[in-house]
Amino acid sequence: MNSTAVSVDRNRTLKMIAREFYHGLTSLLFPAICIVCDQRIDEPNTVVCHNCWSDLKVLSTDIVKMKQIPEQLDTILPVFEFNDTIQKIIHGLKYSGYKSSGVHLGRLMAAQLPQDFLLKDTVLMPVPLHPLKKRERGYNQSMYIARGIAEISGNIIRDNVLNRVKNTVTQTHLDAHERHANMQNAFAVNRSCDLSGIYSIVLIDDVFTTGATMNAAATVLKSRGVASIRGLTVAAPI
Ligand SMILES: [Zn+2]
Repeated sequence: MNSTAVSVDRNRTLKMIAREFYHGLTSLLFPAICIVCDQRIDEPNTVVCHNCWSDLKVLSTDIVKMKQIPEQLDTILPVFEFNDTIQKIIHGLKYSGYKSSGVHLGRLMAAQLPQDFLLKDTVLMPVPLHPLKKRERGYNQSMYIARGIAEISGNIIRDNVLNRVKNTVTQTHLDAHERHANMQNAFAVNRSCDLSGIYSIVLIDDVFTTGATMNAAATVLKSRGVASIRGLTVAAPI
């Protein structure tokens, strides 16, 4: 090895040491704080601590059975209880750009699904945002949830089929009837999409309340001949 090569090699090592020192110092000065409990996080690349991830509670099948299934859906499966922990995680995913939390939620959801829920040919479809909202947020949070599920289940994701064509008002203060009216004609199926080979679709969304959004999406998919449309969400209130 000539002297130039040795010096390049030494420079690279010094840079590496400097980078590690910098990262070490940053995490010492600015330790990652859990967005749920405000405690320091020791695990890398997460904004939620191990304890808070463990705090998620799977909804009991009795509670899931009590949920009214919107008429265009074959079934609806919210996985976790909508508690303070999950509210903060979903809030961080939607409004603070913590996309990796969405992927992890998806992985945790996939681990809880009944064995026959996602058969090989089931297509995962994140419920789309209106283009204006997507531009404002920069991403669709449901896409990250779907990615986490697909990572475990191996199902394919299609996000080029459904379009949200109506920029609906926020549903927080609407009752069930108003929510359904609000969502009428909110979706359209992309004309260039051939759905003839798709038998089963699972729509992915963050929270299930009345299911008005997924029902509207299911309506247009069924009108294009898809036989089975089910809903899968991170959470639902008890
Ligand atoms: Zn925590």
